Amino acid sequence: MKALTLTAVGGPEQLAVQEIPPPRLEGPDQVLVRIQAAALNRLDLFVAGGLPGLSYRFPHVVGADGAGVVEAAGPDVTTVKPGDRVMINPGVSCQACEWCLAGDHPLCPAYQVLGEHRPGTIAEYVVVPERNLAPVPEAMPWAQAAAYSMATLTAWRMLVTRAALRPAESVLIWGAGSGVSLAAVQIARLLGARVIVTSSSAAKLAVATRLGADVTINHAETDVAKEVRRLTGRRGVEVVVDSVGEKTWEQSLRCLARLGRLVTCGATTGPFVVTDVRKLFWYQWSILGSTMGSHGEYRRINELAHEGKLWPVVDSVVPLDEAPRAFERLQAGAQTGKLVIEVTRE
Ligand SMILES: [Zn+2]
Repeated sequence: MKALTLTAVGGPEQLAVQEIPPPRLEGPDQVLVRIQAAALNRLDLFVAGGLPGLSYRFPHVVGADGAGVVEAAGPDVTTVKPGDRVMINPGVSCQACEWCLAGDHPLCPAYQVLGEHRPGTIAEYVVVPERNLAPVPEAMPWAQAAAYSMATLTAWRMLVTRAALRPAESVLIWGAGSGVSLAAVQIARLLGARVIVTSSSAAKLAVATRLGADVTINHAETDVAKEVRRLTGRRGVEVVVDSVGEKTWEQSLRCLARLGRLVTCGATTGPFVVTDVRKLFWYQWSILGSTMGSHGEYRRINELAHEGKLWPVVDSVVPLDEAPRAFERLQAGAQTGKLVIEVTRE
């Protein structure tokens, strides 16, 4: 099969489309999916650069997100059959540890992500456990089905499970270009919150507005914390979604209301941040980490997809042979929404 593979660590320059043997069904609960489209995540850049503690078997197939058609299924599989259109939850957990038994799959010590710890989705075929599959809504095109899972699941867990965002609360979301941020805008709207979004690009802010953001701030021209204070009558926002890290952390804290919650799922600009502990306890803030999502959360976002809510924004679609171009766009931060790779021509 054709696949986008990493032949060594060292960045996206090490990616190449090549022919490799297709994966085979291994366990009775496994499903072989013929991928129609896959989508990129920032994780793929980190994987290409080489993640500490990760041992690769080259050629390593990259990609966490994908959607396609069931080709074959193991004997124990009951919920999907060959020919079904499916989207893939990229997180694979052990199903036996205390965290899995409690339904908190991303906390599983044996947690694996497609394209990181196991072969990824930017290939003609991938094998995943049955429980990682969900039906694609009939009206949803392959590009959006492929782009759906990781960003939407991550944003859902951040806002709903971790930050417990409530109606009438205000939320600040940094960086309108990323798939997670745009999913967060839509989720915050569904929850009935007031949504404030930042970007340095007017075009990206326009997309956020179209998705339901109440207020947009150009963070290249504006002191975000000052503006947030002004917009909230000096009170601050109850929740901040920050996956930027070093560059925005202190501003994020300055935006928080008393009892505010800062939730993070990433550190694009660097992992080491400064927090004034005196303010943390005095204002009784919470700093919340979040990553990926559980099977229950995945079922919930899949239902919302079927209700026509929360469909992802696709920035662009390129054929598999041009996948490295999509990586360049991701690395430059030029995208608004998800970068999709068409693996199989329709
Ligand atoms: Zn587990």
